[in-house]
Amino acid sequence: MQQFTTSGATGYNLIADWPGGDPNDVLMLGGHLDSVSAGPGINDNGSGSAGLLEVALTVARQSFAPRKHIRFGWWGAEELGLVGSTYYVNNLPTAERSRIEAYLNFDMIGSPNAGYFVYSASGQPTGSLQLQQTLQAAFSVPTELTSVGGRSDHAAFARAGIPIGGTFTGAEVTKTAAQAQKWGGTSGVAFDRCYHRSCDTASNIDATALDRDSDAIAYALWTLADSGGTPPGPRFENLTDVTIPDLSTVESPITVSGVSGNAPSALAVGVDITHTYRGDLVIDLVAPDGTAFRVKTSSNDSADNLVTTYAVNASGEVANGTWKLRVQDVASNDVGRINGWSLQF
Ligand SMILES: [Zn+2]
Repeated sequence: MQQFTTSGATGYNLIADWPGGDPNDVLMLGGHLDSVSAGPGINDNGSGSAGLLEVALTVARQSFAPRKHIRFGWWGAEELGLVGSTYYVNNLPTAERSRIEAYLNFDMIGSPNAGYFVYSASGQPTGSLQLQQTLQAAFSVPTELTSVGGRSDHAAFARAGIPIGGTFTGAEVTKTAAQAQKWGGTSGVAFDRCYHRSCDTASNIDATALDRDSDAIAYALWTLADSGGTPPGPRFENLTDVTIPDLSTVESPITVSGVSGNAPSALAVGVDITHTYRGDLVIDLVAPDGTAFRVKTSSNDSADNLVTTYAVNASGEVANGTWKLRVQDVASNDVGRINGWSLQF
């Protein structure tokens, strides 16, 4: 956490480095955490902050090991004049600046009347065609280029000579008829009519836009960090507690939607179960059509708790629909609960 002072108040940047990768070849991604004082700032910029956080968590879950070093930045006091990001860049030693190969910025990525904009490389002192084209390729919907000028936290990086890029779903500008035709939504209305207003609340988010742009962050990160791998697919989870009584069978559902085709040959099933004798547990993953895949049998394993990930070849199953984790306790005396489970496609 980096502290700075502005207008007599203390502000903070949060910088998170993912261990590993070449320290001389840093890919940095960021967005601002603060809002204007007029409103809660959920689209501007809870959306970008949340998208970056979800991608950072995915990096950790996948034990991502790319050639480049990955760094995330969540900036303070953007709305007061790009204060936090400017402080960060200005206080980086020259050698550290030269190690940052690119900076990607995400400010407003869930606008309620969303457009799909990618920062244009032209008109930027350090606009990068590679960054622009990678982000364009990340979308399955058509995108438009936007000239963001120096309007957000990429500005300080650009001034320092660092190539920049980013995405944006629109603010106070009105959506045209052609854009509404292309993207849906309402023409003649602003992309975000609650921009910098008190109504920029949790209901001021288009979840589809936030999902698409968050996927684009992941796609760009996986592509630019030189991982040699393909980006992960969507992840679904159910964190509802389910008690597992003795000698009984319980189930916890996850509904999957928006995934085309079949499940992967290594569907990752994350399991978090509290239990006082885990050898008692028999676990199946049940596909939407009722096919059961046994992932764990009972044994004499007397250890507590089961926190692990199983890979299931579910390539013969359609991905969309309701999957279930079926947990049986086949012995008495020890009980527990499902704390949560997940499916990573
Ligand atoms: Zn903003």
